[in-house]
Parts: sequence; structure tokens; C-alpha cells
Amino acid sequence: MRKMKRNRILASIVVIITVLSIVITAAHLPVFLRDQANLYTSYEYAQMYLDDDRYSELLIEYNYVVGYQPSYSARSTLVERIETYSEKREIREVMSDEIDIWGGGYSERGSYTREDIYSIVDEYTTYMRDDNTMVMNVFYLDGEWEEEPNVLGLTFGNHYVVMFRATIENAAQRSQDLDYEDVESAVLVHEFGHLISLVGIGYESAHEDESYPHHCDESAGPCVMAASVQIKEGEFTAPPPTDFCELCIADIEHIRSIEPGWGIAEYITSVIVVGEAMVGSVWFGIVLTPDKGKKKEYEVYREYYENDFKKKIY
Ligand SMILES: [Zn+2]
Ligand SMILES: [Zn+2]
Repeated sequence: MRKMKRNRILASIVVIITVLSIVITAAHLPVFLRDQANLYTSYEYAQMYLDDDRYSELLIEYNYVVGYQPSYSARSTLVERIETYSEKREIREVMSDEIDIWGGGYSERGSYTREDIYSIVDEYTTYMRDDNTMVMNVFYLDGEWEEEPNVLGLTFGNHYVVMFRATIENAAQRSQDLDYEDVESAVLVHEFGHLISLVGIGYESAHEDESYPHHCDESAGPCVMAASVQIKEGEFTAPPPTDFCELCIADIEHIRSIEPGWGIAEYITSVIVVGEAMVGSVWFGIVLTPDKGKKKEYEVYREYYENDFKKKIY
């Protein structure tokens, strides 16, 4: 009887351990795997920028080539937009490093290859997202992009933004009365728009420009997510829009509400959870199964008789 009771206690412990490990695995392993292997989708990154669930703060890190630092006007326009469209409780800016293009060995000042850009972001990125702070790493360069010299800005890796300030200045100068800071503000907000998945990055958008994927077709009016900044050579040009159109604003709401789908992290987790459940059940079975292999032990009742010679026990 006592053995039976002990087995029941053991079985309960097995059940508790199994359930606990399944719950812990299911809750934490997907996040851990995604963090380790960087398995996040673009809209999940977007949600990190928009929500305050995991990251309540946003840090904007600026690195720049001397003489090509971000303007106050562009920086504050970006902060205003983020305050409007995200739930971040605090937005901080850090002027991190001055990029030393000569000392760093980047071949030609003024023209940057993809590899130049990758090595600059590797070398100069100081802040990465952690605890409750999401990070956006912005790099201001003095020249143009070698692959497409009329590109004003770039986004990649879900948190890097590159601003070609010299290209922006040259573009603005071609027009009359167009302040380069207005163009710069538009480009900076535009690149942030890509970081939050606009337009149609990882979801379907009805107003995505057919000729320029992931840009707004401006069917609801001027929008900062248009594919290009319109500059009239030698003529008066109105400052480009620095805000999202109402369709892009609706997209932001949609992006915020997308539920995470099943990815590699979830498949790995489910395999491990099934494994834990199986190991748990096997142990549960072993603990509760009567042990037939061992010799039976009987309770022995003893009667004595006594005689003069010896005592015998039966
Ligand atoms: Zn773009
Ligand atoms: Zn738009």
C-alpha cells in the first residue's frame, strides 16, 4: 500500500514537471530562437518600432561623416512622426560616431559600394536593441551610392538607414527655393516608413505602386512613401511631403495588428514540446506500472513454537 502511494506522488511530480517544461518551452523558446537566429519577419520588426509591448523606448543612433551630420529639422520631424504613429513612451537620439572615411580605408570619398556600406555599419554601430529599447541606426554619408547615384536614402537589415546627404543637397540645389533640409526630412521619414513595413512589405497593400514595389501610389494624395522626390530643375519646387497619406496610416494600423504566423521557431518549438510530452508520458507510465520484473515480496507472519532444543521459525 505504501509503495502504491509513493508511486502516485511520483506520478504527480512527473505530470507537474512535464506540464511546466511544456509551458516554459512554448512561452520562451520561440522568442529565444528568433533572437538567436534573427528569424523575425519584417512586420515583426515593424511592430517592435510601433508597439510598446516589448520595447517601450526607441533610441535613434546617428553616425555621420564630418560635415554631413543630420539637420535638427530632419531629426525633429522624424521624432514627431514616430511620436504620432508609435506607442513609444520615450524616444532618444544619440550622436554616436563621426565616420572616418579616410582612416577606415574606404576607397573613394563620394561613392560608396554596397560592401563599403556594410563595413561602415559593422564598424560604427554602437547600439543594438536590448531590454526595453528598440534601436534605429542611421548613417549619414557624404557621397552617393555607386549602384544608383540618384538614390537619396536606403534601408536594410530591418534597422539600418543610410542617408546620402551629398546627393540630397545636390538634388535640392537643382531646384529654386528648395531647402535641402526639407528633402532630407522627407527621406528620413520615408526610410523609417520602410522600417515599419510600408508599403506592402510582408503584407498585402491595395495602394502599392505597381511600377515601384513597396512605395505608395499616392492615390489618396501626396505621401512621404512615394517612390521618388519630384524636383523641378531650375524652377520653384514645393517641399516634398514629410507625412504619411491616410492609406499609409491605415496600413500602419493594420501592420500593428498582424498576428505572428508560424515560422521555423514555432515548428522547432512544437517538435520539442511533443518530445517533452512523450518523455513525460513514458515516465508517468513507468512510475505507475506495477513492477512485475522484481521478485514478489510477501508479508511473513511468524508463529513460534518452543521446545527445549531450538527455536524454529516458519
Ligand atoms: Zn523607398
Ligand atoms: Zn501613402
